[in-house]
Amino acid sequence: MRADLHVHTTASDGTLSPAAIVARAVEHGVELLSITDHDTLAAYDALQVPSGLTMITGVELSARWDRMTVHIVGLGVDRASPAMVQAQKTLLAARAERAARIAEKLAPLGLDDPLAAAQRHACGAAVGRPHFASALVEAGIVTDAGEAFRRYLGAGKRGDVGHFWPEQATVIEWILAAGGVAVLAHPLHYRMTMSRLKRLLRDFVAQGGSAIEVLSGRQNADEIRRTTLLARQFGLAASCGSDFHRPHRYGPELGCTGPLPAGLIPVWERITP
Ligand code: MN
Ligand code: MN
Ligand code: MN
Repeated sequence: MRADLHVHTTASDGTLSPAAIVARAVEHGVELLSITDHDTLAAYDALQVPSGLTMITGVELSARWDRMTVHIVGLGVDRASPAMVQAQKTLLAARAERAARIAEKLAPLGLDDPLAAAQRHACGAAVGRPHFASALVEAGIVTDAGEAFRRYLGAGKRGDVGHFWPEQATVIEWILAAGGVAVLAHPLHYRMTMSRLKRLLRDFVAQGGSAIEVLSGRQNADEIRRTTLLARQFGLAASCGSDFHRPHRYGPELGCTGPLPAGLIPVWERITP
């Protein structure tokens, strides 16, 4: 089964529309797809699914764990459930508050109305740091998004305003209440020590989390070995996702992760259609 269970569209910070993502997934041989935009299920409104492609409803929710931001993917959630309505409302409000704070911090750089500029780049989606990066590039303050993050938006820089996300326990509760499976996204992206990551996973499991992205984007063999061990040690089902945001020569492609390591329980076996 060629599965890709972590993908973004223009409903959050991806550059392809939901329809374009579905078409591209089919082109790349994906049989099982979940669109998992940041904090919104809007991509599923009026989405047409071609025959030959199975879709699982998904969302990538931002959460707080031990003063850090972590991402929890909810797979198989009922998007009309009160829990998902509440989750999207809370997180969109958190994003709006954060965007307003970032805009305040960037104003002294000489950007004319940073919030409006970022909103223009967001094209109706919730404003995030990549949109501020685009605004900084457009204004000629930096030459590319990488420089925008290095100088102004990354950790410890002026645009790093902290986070406003709900606690991990709350986010997992929402996913379970919506009938979904809670998946820890890209476990190696947090740059935690192994002991800290294990502490996170102990909490995650105690709070009702039951799966982990064993395959995320383009991981090397050593990374896959580490995430596989974590799945085994914590009795977690295994998920895989490209975390595709945009077509890019060096970036991950839809369906790029390859098959799950043998002996792990694929997360889709835990999802009730
Ligand atoms: Mn993103
Ligand atoms: Mn993420
Ligand atoms: Mn993502």
